[in-house]
Amino acid sequence: MAVAGILGMLRKLLEISPRCGTIEAHVFTYLWKGMYQTMKKQVHSREVKNAARQRLIERGVSVQDIAEIVYLMQSPYHPDLQMQQCIDSVEAVLEKREIQHAILVGVELDVLAEKGLLSEPLQSLVASDEGLFGCDETLALGSVFGYGSIAVTTFGHLDKQKVGVIKRLDTKSSGKVHTFLDDLVCSIAANASSRMAHRLRDEEEALAEHMKQAAEDDSAEQAG
Ligand code: MG
Repeated sequence: MAVAGILGMLRKLLEISPRCGTIEAHVFTYLWKGMYQTMKKQVHSREVKNAARQRLIERGVSVQDIAEIVYLMQSPYHPDLQMQQCIDSVEAVLEKREIQHAILVGVELDVLAEKGLLSEPLQSLVASDEGLFGCDETLALGSVFGYGSIAVTTFGHLDKQKVGVIKRLDTKSSGKVHTFLDDLVCSIAANASSRMAHRLRDEEEALAEHMKQAAEDDSAEQAG
């Protein structure tokens, strides 16, 4: 609507002034410069991805740590499950922008609370991991819904049971603040578990169909 208005105005200027060709050029140059400045302010997704990864490492959480939780969650349903499949699934979840954004926000708040740099009463709420605070779970839960019901139920389970590295993060004796990070790890592990459960089912079904087709082809060949 705004562009149509500007073009209409330019058209009128062209009608009433022989200099309007120059004015039009100036206006378009101005608009183009504005777009260019806006694009320059955008953060490249590679930068976001690398920063999120770096934050996890700095806070003592590796992909392997999270993959071990995924293995614990999914191996009872898939006895042949390999650790590499869990690692691959965690890596895929970490490619998602909304997960990366959640990591950046959550870890930043943890670090600021650790340094005593938040204003009160938020400083005390985050630093003490206040039981009724809830924003840590809400931030992490927000990125779980995209992976379906298995992710949601696994998140709830991990949040209660504090499996693997989550238990270490939940221990307050270290002097570190992991109020947000423990929930973020629950979220990444839950998403990776759900993603893998669906993928493994797809692979099983594809294999079953392939074997059925091969058996039918063999029968047809023998009959022929
Ligand atoms: Mg928490």
